[in-house]
Amino acid sequence: MSGVSATKDTGDAGPATGDLVVLSNVNKHFGALHVLQDIDLTIARGEVVVVIGPSGSGKSTLCRTINRLETIDSGVITIDGKPLPDEGRELARLRADVGMVFQSFNLFAHKTVLENVMLGQLKVRKTEKKDAEDKARGLLDRVGVGSQADKYPAQLSGGQQQRVAIARALAMGPKVMLFDEPTSALDPEMINEVLEVMQQLAREGMTMVVVTHEMGFARSAANRVVFMADGRIVEEASPDEFFSNPRSDRAKDFLSKIL
Ligand code: ADP
Ligand code: MG
Repeated sequence: MSGVSATKDTGDAGPATGDLVVLSNVNKHFGALHVLQDIDLTIARGEVVVVIGPSGSGKSTLCRTINRLETIDSGVITIDGKPLPDEGRELARLRADVGMVFQSFNLFAHKTVLENVMLGQLKVRKTEKKDAEDKARGLLDRVGVGSQADKYPAQLSGGQQQRVAIARALAMGPKVMLFDEPTSALDPEMINEVLEVMQQLAREGMTMVVVTHEMGFARSAANRVVFMADGRIVEEASPDEFFSNPRSDRAKDFLSKIL
């Protein structure tokens, strides 16, 4: 794979700074549930942050606020120096800078693999059809499913579908990629083919936020581990530090259950 650069496009945001995604004092409620509590999180350009924590701790909600699939009640989120707008064209543009890959692939079932990877380019980026197709084929090759381009998602394995979903997100030229448990719905033998694509992206300098229970991936790919519990960031540390010497009881308890 080649060509993914985390610094290639700063748009009109001025010169590239170190911080690509910044959450400052972010709070979010679902009714009475305070699902994100005073979240401060800064993700540097090219950094890979793995978010772990018990089910229900707010990891998915955190991801979804970063591309504004969820609104926040207070605080500020900036992407490449620009606050996330509430709506309109500016939001669509900023959202295109944030690629998202979900547990449940979310491919369009009635479109071919190739069409899935072309669609956002045509509709949001207004790319010429020929260019969109060339880019889509290149990306499908890079994630190892180039020969599946004319099939429909249901004809592919789960691992192949998830790699298509990654290609589709990359086709938009995102500045940051969010992965929310991208391998949790996969049969065990397909997990590695998806993690390898993610490892490669990380090596190429893509800025990534990855919610995962794959601790091997966290150890080898993450620059930083963020541990969440009950809507708060409880600990942040390098993978080595976190796994060998978790500081909080919550983290110790969590690790004792999964390792
Ligand atoms: P995680 O991804 O860490 O498992 P989530 O962010 O999905 O956690 O959920 C955090 C909490 O918020 C859970 O208690 C969940 O039930 C609740 N929640 C998530 N989405 C909604 C929603 N749309 N409406 C109400 N409650 C929600
Ligand atoms: Mg979740």
